[in-house]
Amino acid sequence: MAIAKRPSTEMGQRLFEYAAAPEATDHLKIADSYALFVGGRFVEPHSRRRFATVNPATEETLSEVAEADETDVDRAVTAAADAFRSWSRLSGAKRARYIFRLSRLMQERARELAVLETMDGGKPIKESRDVDVPLAAAHFFYYAGWADKLEWAFPNRRPRPLGVAAQVIPWNFPLLMLAWKIAPALAAGNTVVLKPAETTPLSALAFADICQQADLPPGVVNIVTGAGSTGAAVVGHPGVRKVAFTGSTEVGKQIQRATAGSGKHLTLELGGKAANIVFEDAPLDQAIEGIVNGIYFNQGHVCCAGSRLLVQESIVEPLLAKLKSRLGTLRVGDPLDKNTDVGAINSRAQLEKIEGLVNSGIEEGAEIYQPECHLPERGYWFRPTIFTNVAQSYRIAREEIFGPVLSVLTFRTPDEAVEKANNTPYGLSAGVWTDKGSRILWLVERMRAGVVWANTFNRFDPTSPFGGYKESGFGREGGLHGLAAYVELN
Ligand code: NAP
Ligand code: MG
Repeated sequence: MAIAKRPSTEMGQRLFEYAAAPEATDHLKIADSYALFVGGRFVEPHSRRRFATVNPATEETLSEVAEADETDVDRAVTAAADAFRSWSRLSGAKRARYIFRLSRLMQERARELAVLETMDGGKPIKESRDVDVPLAAAHFFYYAGWADKLEWAFPNRRPRPLGVAAQVIPWNFPLLMLAWKIAPALAAGNTVVLKPAETTPLSALAFADICQQADLPPGVVNIVTGAGSTGAAVVGHPGVRKVAFTGSTEVGKQIQRATAGSGKHLTLELGGKAANIVFEDAPLDQAIEGIVNGIYFNQGHVCCAGSRLLVQESIVEPLLAKLKSRLGTLRVGDPLDKNTDVGAINSRAQLEKIEGLVNSGIEEGAEIYQPECHLPERGYWFRPTIFTNVAQSYRIAREEIFGPVLSVLTFRTPDEAVEKANNTPYGLSAGVWTDKGSRILWLVERMRAGVVWANTFNRFDPTSPFGGYKESGFGREGGLHGLAAYVELN
């Protein structure tokens, strides 16, 4: 392997350049165009319209994908409603068999799915390979295990499936969000119509192929691609009994209004602006890794990202020195390279949103730090960024940036940390770094956040519930809570 030394950086450390280590793509067949997956078959859209999905790292069009209109959505909901009659009556053990089969096929096709996810969305291959795809398969495994044990999941109650579930997901973890939604729905006996995000439809279409391969009964899973209007048609369809949405708070509110009074069950997983709180007794090197993982993982396109760093005043200087030095070692660039830490921004629109918010931070008076790094000429890129001198009133401290941008704030006492951490309309997650278990417990009780990580960050497990407080939404996904959202109990 060729290793060339770069000149010393301003932090005085030596960095090593790794030789390029691109993941192969020749095993992957992306079709020129895709149809809709309805009733177990790929069908041409009634709309006759298609849109392009691009690789954000190269700006090349990967494929043309069908855009479902209201008629297409109606066909998908009808197919799901037809399938519900037999799927909901199938024994739990038989449903489990299908769901186990889906998870095993996802494992078998893991490499293909990881490369597809990285090409369509821009995330580093090491993340799609080691996090997204294995976790997605793990969700199917986990919920397959519940399918024949629903009476034990809800003792002394009679769990019944709801019917057709409308599921709309975002572009940051396309396959994983699909798994969070489809696995519990099927385990409980529901059928689904899922709409992936406009910029990342390909892994959902590969999953449709897996459904065919698994001989899943036609109509149990339907995938309708399209933009926001397709999503609105899916959640608004009168044949739908349950709506599960992951996305922005703004669209979440629209969906809540659109479904009000309809009797549809609703869960919303929305935005976040999480505080990652570092106390002076924290193991500093460990905390640095947690901060980096918290905000630069998946280019910061993470709803639970630790985007507000709250540091105890006494350790601000050593912490920032270490953090800046660590930033200089992050490799930004080709998402298909196995050494890449920070990949491409998902779309031009998202890049412009990040740039706009970063400019507002500079204009409002915050101090920006970005390490020197070479960015590819084509594609959408943003350097890992740290803002210091941030006031709580600045937009970069209040609004979700959804990019690799960290806002650093300080505190003196634990009370002040809690006060500042909770000073947000969101409440999805938080992190705490300290040597004292008692302080963790004290803080966790006071945090208005669905998940609080202690001395770690961004850890996920299919058995743990995940969801928000306040404008981060309501309802939980994962674990038994996630299953409860797909059953009626009496
Ligand atoms: P978004 O604009 O709300 O889109 C999410 C999904 O909804 C996409 O599939 C989108 O289609 C669709 N959509 C847009 N308008 C719609 C409407 N009126 N009715 C129904 N569906 C509609 O969010 P995004 O920008 O893609 O995703 C980023 C957001 O998701 C962030 O705020 C992030 O925090 C949040 N998120 C939350 C979680 C969580 O678990 N809490 C997880 C991941 C992401 P198009 O793609 O075509 O626009
Ligand atoms: Mg794409």
